[in-house]
Amino acid sequence: MFDLLDQCSGFMGASQDYESSNLVLVGAPMDFTVSFRPGTRQGPQAIRQVSIGLEEYSVLLDRDLAEYTYYDAGDISIPFGHVLESLDKIGQVVDRIIRDDKFPLVLGGEHLISLPVIKQVVQKYPDLKVIHFDAHADLRQDYMGQTLSHASVMRRVADLVGGQNIYQFGIRSGTREEFDYARANTRMFPGKVLEPLKQVLPELTGHPVYITLDIDVVDPAYAPGTGTAEPGGCSSTEILDAIYLMKELNVVGMDLVEISPVYDHSERTALLGAKLVREAILVFGKSSI
Ligand code: MN
Ligand code: MN
Repeated sequence: MFDLLDQCSGFMGASQDYESSNLVLVGAPMDFTVSFRPGTRQGPQAIRQVSIGLEEYSVLLDRDLAEYTYYDAGDISIPFGHVLESLDKIGQVVDRIIRDDKFPLVLGGEHLISLPVIKQVVQKYPDLKVIHFDAHADLRQDYMGQTLSHASVMRRVADLVGGQNIYQFGIRSGTREEFDYARANTRMFPGKVLEPLKQVLPELTGHPVYITLDIDVVDPAYAPGTGTAEPGGCSSTEILDAIYLMKELNVVGMDLVEISPVYDHSERTALLGAKLVREAILVFGKSSI
């Protein structure tokens, strides 16, 4: 059905049946525009591997993965080193998932993979709002002359959806120009996550919402396994609470990016990723019972 890498052990509890699943996990193992430390191409597989260490039941949600039908499509087979072709391939796979009326939950990979995903999602939902969790603004016009870079991804998303439709939380790193741009164009809440998210929930209600979650929004103490770790972030509990807070929103797609197993010696970052995926399936997926 999709052109995929043959290396998928599957997220825990995933169905074998694409047709009956209303949420589809897919890995986008791309990491070649990163500025500092590569390795996120192995993120999706690491998340799947540690997922089996978690329970399928979430006590805080009182929901169980056994009551949800979701499909793990594996990792998209992308031509390494070729940015445009790789983004195009990711877009094609997500286009198919969305046309089939399924929720795409995309695992990175570097943050640039969000661009082709959001490009497809906004075609279906023109009044899309984007919620962005990150340590970094990702609003550079270009990075070393490249307009397609993980450091520019939200600037390119702003070109697509309009900066006023982007809500940025936890941001604590960037250039002066990026923050000037944010003050004039996006809805940015530097540093904090939960308080500002609570404040904007009313204005997000009723709109289709896409979530892009860069794991480095979380403090390196909780999530060291990432390419550009930035001290001073939120806790793992807070980012899980952010997922619970968005329960009432009309979330139509999500990605989780920048988990890098190379720097994740205790696997705690992958484990947090797997738990975020579990809770996201339970919150944004549809129960089959
Ligand atoms: Mn980012
Ligand atoms: Mn980041």
